[in-house]
Amino acid sequence: VLCPRSLESFTNWQKAQKSKAKYQAKAANQRRDYLHKLTTHLVKQYDVIIIEDLKTKNLQKNHHLAKSIANASWRMFRQMLEYKCEWYGKKLIAVDPKNTSRICSKCGYNSGAKPLEIREWTCSKCQTKHDRDINAAVNILHKATPTGQGLAMVTS
Ligand SMILES: [Zn+2]
Repeated sequence: VLCPRSLESFTNWQKAQKSKAKYQAKAANQRRDYLHKLTTHLVKQYDVIIIEDLKTKNLQKNHHLAKSIANASWRMFRQMLEYKCEWYGKKLIAVDPKNTSRICSKCGYNSGAKPLEIREWTCSKCQTKHDRDINAAVNILHKATPTGQGLAMVTS
């Protein structure tokens, strides 16, 4: 049963759907452009790039929009790094992400999971103060190169 009013609201709904699709396409293009710029910059600047080999289990499509965008972006980021490293003759190393955010990069003590809102923490064993992301990055570097092997971490 159609009455003029529901038809009009249906037309408005269609319009809204169209502009939503347009907006989403634009946002997706902007993300892709950004990832292209970022990965080209990284691959040109560095000879070895180390990333976490995130489990596909954690990257499965889900219905939470922000999460599925983050997952899709990570997959795209990694794919771009893979083929651009090939193009430029650079090396991409993916390491097991296990415990990278739990272990103290200085003494190796595992103080367990920390909620994402904890950005800084102090090791309860050696009292080193850590920035969450930098500590994890150092752990990722250690996993790829247990002896150091002349690699230095660049935080930029
Ligand atoms: Zn420690």
